Amino acid sequence: MMKSRGRLGVTMAASVVTLLGLSATAAAQEKVLNLYTARHYQTDESLYNNFTRQTGIKINRIEGQEDPLLERIRNEGANSPADVFITVDIGRLWRAQQAGVFAPVKSKVLESRIPANYRDPNGEWFGFSARARVIAYNKAAVKPGDIARYEDLADPKWKGKVCTRSSGHVYNLSLVSSLIAHDGEAKTEAWARGVAGNLARAPKGGDTDQLKAVAAGECDVAISNTYYIARLLKSTKPEDKAVADKLGVVWPNQSSQGVHMNISGGGMLRHAPNKEAAVKFLEYLASDEAQAYFADGNNEWPVVPSVKIANPALEALGTFKADKINVAELGKYQSEAQKLVDKAGYR
Ligand code: FE
Repeated sequence: MMKSRGRLGVTMAASVVTLLGLSATAAAQEKVLNLYTARHYQTDESLYNNFTRQTGIKINRIEGQEDPLLERIRNEGANSPADVFITVDIGRLWRAQQAGVFAPVKSKVLESRIPANYRDPNGEWFGFSARARVIAYNKAAVKPGDIARYEDLADPKWKGKVCTRSSGHVYNLSLVSSLIAHDGEAKTEAWARGVAGNLARAPKGGDTDQLKAVAAGECDVAISNTYYIARLLKSTKPEDKAVADKLGVVWPNQSSQGVHMNISGGGMLRHAPNKEAAVKFLEYLASDEAQAYFADGNNEWPVVPSVKIANPALEALGTFKADKINVAELGKYQSEAQKLVDKAGYR
């Protein structure tokens, strides 16, 4: 009995090695980190190279679209080589968390560097950069002060003048979630009905398409994440500059909760084969230099308050009051937000 159990143990150990293959074994010796990321920007190269230089840990990167990457992690299950998953928007981080793919990380570095409202209270995910969702307007049609709050987008005075991407996109679901958190469900449903009635056209395209529609005069106001505006401001293409020239930007809800903020972020995966490297990498992302690279890659703001970046396009947008709500709260309302916009007929 003892003998056969022992033999079974050996056989199992041997087959595990075979299943994982040589790469995993070699990887553990070589010190690697397997990163699944939905981010891909120019400055990311320096971001990863500096980590390898500092720690000797090589980064294997799998890049992909947000939702398929999460699907891949789920399908790979316990055999997944992924150590860290990075994606954008709290809605997606929340979905990944609900799918049970993350493992909690206890780290004094992360807890002291990242403000509490930009990380999961259990350490399953951490925000590493922040973006704001603002209202852009056509300067020829709208005066500054004509619109000040997200709630105003439902005002009948904007009938036929509002452009947004689809309400079911995670950026809008997170915004709707924040309105549910601040205004309650009934008011937010009435708001969604009002916005749907004010649309200049059926939602199509991404935020940049809404900005272009505003510049073209197809609508007067639109909702957009700040980095899309910064991207147009920094672009060397004359057609992008022409769009940027026509746009004004409103920081919404400055006399109440502040502008809706969202994050890019990530966490360590439950089945991570290189957990020590994963924690080191997450801590590295909160360092001064990594924060600057990470934020600059997509014209976002570092989440670590002491880190300063010099991004003229973001500075051109001016200063603002940010909503301090814990973004985890916005995760909780995602499915309610989807039901609410459906009910309101906001597509
Ligand atoms: Fe985006």
